[in-house]
Amino acid sequence: MKNKTLIIDGQNNHDWQRMTPILRQILTHAGCSVDVATTPPKGAAAGWDSFRPDFAQYDVVVSNYLGEDWPMAIIDAMEQWVSQGGGHVAVHAGGTSFAKRKSYNKLVGLAWRESNQGDRITLDADAKVVRIASGQGPGSGHGPCFSYPVNHHQPEHPILKGLPPIWMHSKDELWHGLRGPAENFTVLASAFSPRTGAREPLLWTVNYGKGRSFVTALGHLWNDGETSAVDCIGFRDTLARGCQWAASGTVDLPVPGDFPTEGSTSIGEPVYL
Ligand code: ZN
Repeated sequence: MKNKTLIIDGQNNHDWQRMTPILRQILTHAGCSVDVATTPPKGAAAGWDSFRPDFAQYDVVVSNYLGEDWPMAIIDAMEQWVSQGGGHVAVHAGGTSFAKRKSYNKLVGLAWRESNQGDRITLDADAKVVRIASGQGPGSGHGPCFSYPVNHHQPEHPILKGLPPIWMHSKDELWHGLRGPAENFTVLASAFSPRTGAREPLLWTVNYGKGRSFVTALGHLWNDGETSAVDCIGFRDTLARGCQWAASGTVDLPVPGDFPTEGSTSIGEPVYL
């Protein structure tokens, strides 16, 4: 499927200028066309007038943006477009903006927030979803970066179908204590956090009106140039498949032969367009 994709960037606490070409490569490799809309930099008084993404031109919007609120008309337009059947994907910190905006929190389901900014979702030892009330337990955080196994929980979901049910992710942050309304929400994958002693959701979907939202908490990019998390074939392939699903509700990408397994990580060629 040749989905028309719009990456949004311009502000982030990660190096978004290095991340966008990485995302472009992953999505182009998966057959998507990719445009980029860049906001003004943080604190810029001018420039917002020319940030006018035309969402209707695209099948899916991919957020590599963490920063100031957009003008109300733009975020309204994006949410409206998704609710009418558009696709939305947030990568790592890309779902963290608009903390006070109810509708955006619904769109991303869970996000990096304080403990009192929404419910927490974990999975118990039987992979049953547990909901913990806002204010109870930790807010969002992560321990030291490491390589860890990712468990899938919806093996028949189009994003996961055919992939190994457990695979070894290359060194990355493992986020915990994410918070949000988590409505119309499906946990696709989790990992056990030694920091919290709980299984933490890392990939999930949200049905948002007639539209679809996919969020991956994976994909940290280090400022010193290390790219192990984004070079992981597991990160790349679940992201590409998540974009296809958000765009269309289906996935036709083949399972790569070098997908990581339960026993070993798999790093792809770090060749960026
Ligand atoms: Zn990070």
